[in-house]
Amino acid sequence: MNDQELLRYSRQILLQHVDIDGQLRLKNGRALIVGLGGLGSPVALYLAAAGVGELHLADFDTVDLTNLQRQILHDTDSVGLSKVDSAIRRLSAINPEIQLVAHRSALDVDSLAAAVAAVDVVLDCSDNFSTREAVNAACVAAGKPLVSGAAIRLEGQLSVFDPRRAESPCYHCLYGHGSEAELTCSEAGVIGPLVGLVGSLQALEALKLLAGFGEPLVGRLLLIDALTSRFRELRVKRDPGCSVCGSQHG
Ligand SMILES: [Zn+2]
Repeated sequence: MNDQELLRYSRQILLQHVDIDGQLRLKNGRALIVGLGGLGSPVALYLAAAGVGELHLADFDTVDLTNLQRQILHDTDSVGLSKVDSAIRRLSAINPEIQLVAHRSALDVDSLAAAVAAVDVVLDCSDNFSTREAVNAACVAAGKPLVSGAAIRLEGQLSVFDPRRAESPCYHCLYGHGSEAELTCSEAGVIGPLVGLVGSLQALEALKLLAGFGEPLVGRLLLIDALTSRFRELRVKRDPGCSVCGSQHG
């Protein structure tokens, strides 16, 4: 690391849990962010600012005026621009030391598998069930940890699925039987700071995984009720009969 990097990251290098070694692991770390909307915004901003060496950005959408109430990665001048290009403009202004890899078109099974294989951690910041299922399946197949967040109306959820740990459930273990996850923000509405909160927690979990400190949110589902400002945690178990991760663990 050069002097500029040491200065830039000095406040987190000061933490004994990060230190120079952790910062170097972040610099050598690669993260795939699926979706550059309400959740992907704080995720991308914080991971870029923290010095994660490679950010792979996946979104096939363009910035719309209705996005700006919560998608703080984008600004009014970006309306009509692809979200990936808008993100690249903002993130490279925040931190020119990192590499940004663009995925501007929708990922099919093969391109998603390749995108997942190319990184160390995946952040699901998408807004629909089919993408979440596809990302989960790709992560299980590649053995990559998945930081999954969701927010709808005034409720948020967060968990980490890590196929490298035998006890870890996958997304499908929890949600495979269908849920409200089908509902999207465009239909149900959502409040900006809640997606900011869930996305910030996703960024934190990814930094812990990449730098190698702390206890990840594996086997635990964090539920956030914005209405009452209450956080609850549920223990979640791997489903031995899960059609996605069941065979992976024998
Ligand atoms: Zn599973």
